[in-house]
Amino acid sequence: MGVYVHIPFCEQKCSYCDFYSVVVGAGEFSSLTDNYLVSLRQEALYYRALWGDSPLTTIFFGGGTPSLLPPEKLADLIAFLRTELPFVTDPEITIEANPHSLTEAGAEALAAAGVNRVSLGAQSFQDDLLKAIGRLHRAEQISESVRSLRRAGIDNINLDLIFGLPGQSVRHWQETLEQAAALQPTHLSCYALILEPGTPLAAWHEAGLVQLPNDDDQADMYGLARSLLRSAGYEHYEISNFCLPGCACQHNLLYWRNRPHIALGTAAAGYVNRCRYINAPDLHGYLQSWQSGNPNYLECEQVGVEQEMDDTMMVGMRLIAGVAEEEFRHRFGVSYWDVYGEEITELVERGLVVEVEGSLRVTEQGLFLENMVSGAFLRGAGPLDKGGAK
Ligand code: SF4
Repeated sequence: MGVYVHIPFCEQKCSYCDFYSVVVGAGEFSSLTDNYLVSLRQEALYYRALWGDSPLTTIFFGGGTPSLLPPEKLADLIAFLRTELPFVTDPEITIEANPHSLTEAGAEALAAAGVNRVSLGAQSFQDDLLKAIGRLHRAEQISESVRSLRRAGIDNINLDLIFGLPGQSVRHWQETLEQAAALQPTHLSCYALILEPGTPLAAWHEAGLVQLPNDDDQADMYGLARSLLRSAGYEHYEISNFCLPGCACQHNLLYWRNRPHIALGTAAAGYVNRCRYINAPDLHGYLQSWQSGNPNYLECEQVGVEQEMDDTMMVGMRLIAGVAEEEFRHRFGVSYWDVYGEEITELVERGLVVEVEGSLRVTEQGLFLENMVSGAFLRGAGPLDKGGAK
């Protein structure tokens, strides 16, 4: 079980991004972050009372660009969380960082603050593609960041990559994968670009101003990631994630196993005492709410056992190892066959899932139709019509 902390500040908005973050001028950045850090502490204490003693094993700082926080303030926050919440002695502590703003001194400060895993928003190794999506960094800054982190003693490094970018060819993607693998990070996340409504990129696409790779090329890119990274020694362990043996992201595994987690910060989503909550994406509303000691939820719902089973299957099928029947039975007292027998049979007949060594997992074909597989476990929707194709 772990803690997610959302840090909603960015240097500039990327054209494809719909994560909640704000660009703050230098004049008010310091006072705003100070206030935000006070609220985060209040929120942590609020959940400490609800959480109890269950050991926490991970902290993940996401955003936004959490590495924009002054390192001494980040270190204070980490120390506070580790003191006030029931953390194990050596939690995985991940921070997302932007190659544009990660300096050598910054990497050393992260290590001194206790950060032991860094996720770099690399996205692509072609400068023109980076520019086209509004990223501030250049490709060479990715390798400089990796070197700085290693010099600072942080070896557990993820590179986020995106395929399906405007103007990106399969050949571009292959170069990106090759250059990423050559840096030998412990972990690589390969996400398909999603055109999020309301983003500039979606509007440009709608207006015919940008061209995206077609579906066949995108499928080829995904297949290429699998073959190239596996031959470079990476395990494909989740639909979009690859790692060197033993280097899976422990924090994200909590999500894929549908485990409880505390989430702090505006727009953060948590799962505590069977209550699934999303904080409103509203920085000033968040600060005001915690001035009076209250959460500022966008949504907060109690999750029943049936819903928890559905969620466990839906997110669990993203893992290449799938969902273990024994674990499901241990958690819920029934087999997944008892609950979803009809749906599983249909998925098996379509060749999308298979049961191997006591676990239900996606097949090669199912990987490309993951939304359809996950959607089948959502009760109340029609069989196999519950999710679209990826
Ligand atoms: S840096 Fe990350 S969070 Fe910020 S706008 Fe770009 S993609 Fe979004």
